[in-house]
Amino acid sequence: YEKMELTDKGKDELTEISRTFNSMMEKLEQHYQKQQQFVSNASHELKTPITVIESYAKLLLRRGFENEEVTKESLQAIANESGRMHEMVLQLLELAKNKEQLEIQWAHIELAPLLEKATAQMQQAYHRPFSVHGSVPARIYSDEKMLKQLLFILLDNARKYSEGEVRVHASENDQYVLITIQDYGVGIPEAHIPHLFERFYRVGEDRNRKTGGTGLGLAIAKELADQLGITIEVESTVDKGSSFTLFVPRKEELQ
Ligand code: ADP
Repeated sequence: YEKMELTDKGKDELTEISRTFNSMMEKLEQHYQKQQQFVSNASHELKTPITVIESYAKLLLRRGFENEEVTKESLQAIANESGRMHEMVLQLLELAKNKEQLEIQWAHIELAPLLEKATAQMQQAYHRPFSVHGSVPARIYSDEKMLKQLLFILLDNARKYSEGEVRVHASENDQYVLITIQDYGVGIPEAHIPHLFERFYRVGEDRNRKTGGTGLGLAIAKELADQLGITIEVESTVDKGSSFTLFVPRKEELQ
């Protein structure tokens, strides 16, 4: 064989290829580690309700027949924990969806009726005041189903972590349509804010126990927002309340 000498250009190209390859492998490795971590966290989080259900079922068997109080308490705990588990499994399935195969249904959406309907639905379900304010821009360009899902996660959190009214405020500027969900509840300590959108992240387990959440809602909200090109901004003061603002990009050319 004729010996091949690499030209300088060839060498540069080889270096470039190997650099790209290494960085791809690094990304794959990181992705794999993240996935591993997620599976391990999910298993751990599912183990807790299973353990609670198991111990209450055993208590029921031992003492439930003669003691009505024990029966009531056990069945209530089993119902609560299995409900939480159900919710978590649905959320895990949502996160496991293959994003590449997901078709985003971009369309013009009438914003005012969407906000009115979503808040009315929440109000009816939870007997709490939900109201819409501001000069709601007429239309936005997004995926209606995904946007609704995103709004419901934020409205539901606002309800869970506060007691009074939940307000939705809409406005617009040159670049964005802004939708703010404001509550007057427990608020979030500043140090926790950067982590809120991580999977399974919850602020203080004790504080959250009675809401029975999973720590997955905001992770799903973030994924939905990313796909729709929406940025979410959080502002919060402990014991005063929190606001989550969606920055929905305006697509002038499409309106
Ligand atoms: P969860 O199922 O626990 O509500 P999320 O991912 O939706 O999970 O939220 C993560 C954590 O962020 C919650 O556990 C809660 O501590 C905090 N959080 C989210 N929304 C609010 C809010 N409106 N007010 C106060 N804390 C909130």
